[in-house]
Amino acid sequence: MSMKCPTCKRPVLQKVTLEESLLANRCDKCEGNWIDSEQYWSWLDAHSETLPEKEPEVSFEINDSQKAKLCPQCNRILIKYKVGRGTNFHLDHCSSCNGVWFDKNEWETLKARNLHDEIHCIFTQSWQRQVRQEEIEENLDLIYTQKFGSEDYQELQKIKAWLNDRPQKLALLAYLNDENPYKLSPPANL
Ligand SMILES: [Zn+2]
Ligand SMILES: [Zn+2]
Repeated sequence: MSMKCPTCKRPVLQKVTLEESLLANRCDKCEGNWIDSEQYWSWLDAHSETLPEKEPEVSFEINDSQKAKLCPQCNRILIKYKVGRGTNFHLDHCSSCNGVWFDKNEWETLKARNLHDEIHCIFTQSWQRQVRQEEIEENLDLIYTQKFGSEDYQELQKIKAWLNDRPQKLALLAYLNDENPYKLSPPANL
């Protein structure tokens, strides 16, 4: 009997070769892939060192399904982990058998960034901490853009980067901050 697709919930998963020496179970209907832990690790072991992360040259349309899913191997609820690093989808991981469900094009998206050999890291605390940090930065970026307007905000970021490089940063700031720095008593920081 073949395994049930976590998304379509029908027994439609078929063995496919996802990469050289990496077998997956694919759903013909939704085109998602299930990779079991043993398959992943033996492929990773054969696959020398971790490839450096890169900017993707192609992008894929992803339909990250938000519904709760069950592990096709042990029937437990899969846990969602945000991937981060400029992507906007979750992977579904079974904490019991360590298998991973990839909705259509999620594997391809990770591969285009060379993150497909770091899948196991995505489920760690340190990776997830970084994902949350990225989210905080993205939110603040949005807030600043709305507050300053995107043109001024870009200019401001340039000025900030330039200021941060100056050894006299505080004096420069004091000068900027003072409405009239040409008085007899200069501002305190100058
Ligand atoms: Zn399916
Ligand atoms: Zn499982």
